[in-house]
Amino acid sequence: MSDPELMEQVVNLCKRRGFIFPSAEIYGGFRSTYDYGPLGVLMLRNVKEAWWRAMVQLRDDVVGLDAAILSPPAIWEASGHLENFTDPLVDCRNCKERFRLDQLTDPTTCPNCGKTGTFTEARQFNLMFKTHAGPVESEGTVAYLRPETAQGIFTNFMNVLSTSRKKPPFGIAQIGKAFRNEITPGNFVFRTREFEQMELEYFVPPDEGPKWYEYWCAERFRWYTDLGIPEEQLRLRPHEADELSHYSSGTSDVEFRYPWGWGELEGIANRADYDLTQHAKHSGEKLEYFDQATGERYVPHVIEPSAGATRSMMAFLLAAYTEDEVNGETRTVLRLHHRLAPYQVAVLPLSKKDTLSPMAREVLHLLQPHFMTEYDDTQSIGRRYRRQDEIGTPYCITVDFDSLDDKAVTVRDRDTLAQDRVPVDHLVDHLREKLQ
Ligand code: ATP
Repeated sequence: MSDPELMEQVVNLCKRRGFIFPSAEIYGGFRSTYDYGPLGVLMLRNVKEAWWRAMVQLRDDVVGLDAAILSPPAIWEASGHLENFTDPLVDCRNCKERFRLDQLTDPTTCPNCGKTGTFTEARQFNLMFKTHAGPVESEGTVAYLRPETAQGIFTNFMNVLSTSRKKPPFGIAQIGKAFRNEITPGNFVFRTREFEQMELEYFVPPDEGPKWYEYWCAERFRWYTDLGIPEEQLRLRPHEADELSHYSSGTSDVEFRYPWGWGELEGIANRADYDLTQHAKHSGEKLEYFDQATGERYVPHVIEPSAGATRSMMAFLLAAYTEDEVNGETRTVLRLHHRLAPYQVAVLPLSKKDTLSPMAREVLHLLQPHFMTEYDDTQSIGRRYRRQDEIGTPYCITVDFDSLDDKAVTVRDRDTLAQDRVPVDHLVDHLREKLQ
């Protein structure tokens, strides 16, 4: 399948099967915003859960946080976003299209109408969404929707340090919405104005920065391969010196091969002591670590792996989409890792007859506390298998007429198509072994 075809198939599948819908569609849509439907909400939660599991649950050196989205200008003044979080915007005087100057292959020619020399002077456009907190709109009531989750972590550094009994090296993890008034959103949910991030700020003794930077680059790359993205569709790209932010002594992007080329999935940056020092200076508070054992006081350095939840969900979908042939028929399969699939199990009674329904429903209720389970008794069994393959369900459980006598069901594997007969009594253990 060609790259444009793959993109089209995945976007269609997302709409058709209820993963992702264009927002406000009944009003003609709202540019580049999307809503996550019944399957999308399950999968997005699974992406975030897989990140939380790897970054928080399985570690004893990382704690979580959920900071506010609305934030005062002081935070963004200190972080440098008010001044620097800008993109260069140009307008084409001929066709009136807008572009980010730094994304144009030829900065003198309009890619829309093809005219040369029609661009306006570049203007620096701040990407933060500005609003007002309270009923009166005045300078004093200005608030911003956070453009990244990271700053809420830095402003809570002392709160977390004093309540969590952690000491460097330790991290604070956060998942949540972020907002950027992107000049050119697009490529489906790759670049949207409202999106979700998964960020870790990992605080380390100053001389350990480079070591932990290397560590997190390797860890984060592995997270994507562990969850099923083939290594050849991923790369770790260190930033060139002229790409680095002024505070960064090293940044690498985990990139994915999207249908239109390599693009960022996640950035891992060595931010040194920039953020804590800036917030200390602007707030007048001391933001440092005091080691009681050694009497040493220092501002920790920070390594930041910053990933997009919505953007990586799209990469997982693109990497999982396949078409193969079964019994001479084309079948669409989402070969999603079982942790990411919207449903882990589907219960399918062989026929809709009343004789099978009670037992099939019993099996459903048996599985529901353990796995996200779907129940489907419409259409032929073959078509129902195809529907589950298409949404990535790893196991289908068929209840047939023999089940009434032998108290066993058939477990069908999405990828190998192998069918195992499993006693209902052992079903939860059997699936748990495969899925956990
Ligand atoms: P880009 O260069 O693509 O604009 P960035 O370098 O500005 O990205 P970061 O500030 O490093 O992005 O944000 C961390 C992560 O958040 C990105 O790797 C990406 O996964 C996600 N992200 C950033 N902007 C968007 C967006 N507009 N839509 C969806 N995800 C985004």
